[in-house]
Amino acid sequence: MEDIIILGTGCAGLTAAVYTARANLSPLVLEGGQPGGQLTTTSEVENFPGWPEGIDGFELMDKMRKQAERFGARTAFAEVESAELGAGVKRLTTGDGTVHEARALIIATGARPRTLGIPGEKEMWGGKGVSTCATCDGAFYRDMEVVVVGGGDSAAEESLFLTRFCSKVTLVHRRDELRASKIMADRVLANKKIEVLWDSVPEEVLADDGGMTRAVRVRNVKSGETGEVACKGFFIAIGHIPNTVPFAGQLPLDENGYLVPEGKSAVRTKIPGVYVAGDCADHVYRQAVTAAGMGCQAAIEAERWLAESD
Ligand code: NAP
Repeated sequence: MEDIIILGTGCAGLTAAVYTARANLSPLVLEGGQPGGQLTTTSEVENFPGWPEGIDGFELMDKMRKQAERFGARTAFAEVESAELGAGVKRLTTGDGTVHEARALIIATGARPRTLGIPGEKEMWGGKGVSTCATCDGAFYRDMEVVVVGGGDSAAEESLFLTRFCSKVTLVHRRDELRASKIMADRVLANKKIEVLWDSVPEEVLADDGGMTRAVRVRNVKSGETGEVACKGFFIAIGHIPNTVPFAGQLPLDENGYLVPEGKSAVRTKIPGVYVAGDCADHVYRQAVTAAGMGCQAAIEAERWLAESD
């Protein structure tokens, strides 16, 4: 049995790994479908302290992983499908039926992009024009017109990133003001390549004869009018869904599926030795640095709990 298992290799999981590894706990870090977490799909990270010029998201996560491994953290690919979380043993079953057991567990499974559920979205997913990651797919749309949907920092960031390649970016937002931070919103509004369609929602992604994205049908929520916006790429940036399904029934989840910490602590749960960290349990701050902070708190809590229960 492991002393401690950490689920997730985003900012929260890897920071917990650095701390528990430096406490000589030799953590086993299980990584799921998105190694390195959401920052690996972001471009420049400008708000992580210590990087005055900004740092590429993938590079930041690579450095965190190396830092954790330097102190003895071990990583393995494993998608956890179910969990039995007792005060003594925490038992995790992965997709291939492997069972991992640990005395302590830190859940840092993050969140994944939310989608719209409109016609055409699934059909044109991936190589046919619909994407949730401008960093991954933006370069395919050089000199083409694209649409981004959303009004938060992600949508702003995706739109700005896409202006590096695309001839025009139409940002479709369902309200008449952006939710994004002021600095990001100002950059969007000042960028001549970006046109914002306010009070509008996409209703359908339309295909050309070859099944590739050719336009998005958009409806103005105030006037009810609909129209088509020509685009080869359609980028969805409307928030995230926490990766918490294996823990339903074991730990409390809120109405949006986020893990709910116990009492005043941000990282403790009702089960002794089980802690949460990062975006799977935080729908308020959701920043790389706050996820890292929660990973640190969870690691210190776990380390103390293990020492006390020895
Ligand atoms: P978010 O802040 O939750 O924004 C989601 C946006 O999508 C909102 O504008 C929302 O509209 C819109 N939306 C949600 N559901 C929709 C639907 N079904 N149809 C149409 N529009 C819909 O999510 P986020 O932008 O991914 O950001 C998440 C967190 O990460 C935030 O805390 C953000 O600050 C942070 N972040 C920071 C950076 C950075 O600083 N560089 C970059 C990315 C993300 P409403 O406004 O009407 O609710």
